[in-house]
Amino acid sequence: QNDLLSATGTTVFTVMSALATQHGAINLGQGFPDYEGPEDVVRAAADALLDHRNQYPPLTGLPELRQAVAAANRRFYGLEVDPDSEVIVTSGATEALTACLMAVLNPGDEVVLLEPLYDIYLPLVKLLGGVPKLVRLSPPKWELPRAELAAAFGPKTKAILFNSPMNPASKVFTAAELAFIAELCQRHDTYAVCDEVYEHLTFDGWKHIPLMTLPGMRERCMRIGSAGKTFSLTGWKVGYITADRSLAPNVAKAHQHLTFTTAPNLQRAVAVGLSKDDAYFESLSTELQARRDRLAEGLAALGFGVLPARGSYFITADFTPLGFAGDDVAFCRHLTEVAKVTAIPVSAFYPGPDAPRHFVRFAFCKRMEVLEEALSRLAAWK
Ligand code: PMP
Ligand code: GLN
Repeated sequence: QNDLLSATGTTVFTVMSALATQHGAINLGQGFPDYEGPEDVVRAAADALLDHRNQYPPLTGLPELRQAVAAANRRFYGLEVDPDSEVIVTSGATEALTACLMAVLNPGDEVVLLEPLYDIYLPLVKLLGGVPKLVRLSPPKWELPRAELAAAFGPKTKAILFNSPMNPASKVFTAAELAFIAELCQRHDTYAVCDEVYEHLTFDGWKHIPLMTLPGMRERCMRIGSAGKTFSLTGWKVGYITADRSLAPNVAKAHQHLTFTTAPNLQRAVAVGLSKDDAYFESLSTELQARRDRLAEGLAALGFGVLPARGSYFITADFTPLGFAGDDVAFCRHLTEVAKVTAIPVSAFYPGPDAPRHFVRFAFCKRMEVLEEALSRLAAWK
């Protein structure tokens, strides 16, 4: 057995989803919508299957999807990219993350990671022989600790890997924070793996800014998107990477060794999705914002200390005011077993020492009636 894998447990999302099923709890843990994605996109996938074009698509993705990714880069961010040499389609953002890191890491290279971190980042960096350097953002403000971040960069740093909008902090990095990160990348001559799966899920006028659009960052960034999040179809696992032509061939080589290609019908459907009008992308975030508002208001009324959520699927809340005797893991277990509502302990995103232990993450990408039912269960439990 691989020692690193033996030391890795089952992901907290799977553990909590299984616990939710076992106890008949409403699952506000794992981040997946309980509603379908756009009908025309789903239909395009079905039609494409029946078109009998079901053999291996090209290694970097179907031309129509690469063109759609390039067009979306231009439409949303004014980023000009060549669909033939600067876009790579992958089997989900998860594979994209693996391919990007694999493309640049040599054993012993350091990778700067920001806590709270998405669960696969740490094992992934280690499995690829990298050395993680953790920098911590803490609730309730999730401020970027600039001095610590600067100190984490050094001669061995190969890349920084982070997500914005951020899971579970729901933080959207500001232009000033991104400029700070960009300056460090340039000063230390590093890459940036930019996990931007929640790029279209921002609220209250907050706008996502890709690090890749900052001066001097085009050649350094590998920008990752996910159809799962952009079209509320998380099971599809279609991701896409935008990277400069100086970098993309190596990423494509890594992708060749991982999955080589991604289901062609899904690629055709995602191309249809990315070509949808601006109204679709606006309604995606406004509908989600309404769900966020309902859950935030309900949790606050129950006494939770609800933190601001500016992007992603998640609200983080402090349960200290509820007077529960136990940490976040115990609280989430108790809530699942007794209240029949499941959340994720935020400490799961803090592999370093002294994790915060009184915050939990609730996913609000659920039908309104499900959120209502979850809130009534919590009210009855309290
Ligand atoms: N990055 C982040 C920050 C995520 O929350 C997720 C979860 N969906 C992923 C990557 C994985 O995306 P995909 O399902 O497209 O592999
Ligand atoms: N990204 C999802 C979340 O944060 C989970 C994806 C998974 O289960 N691996 O909830």
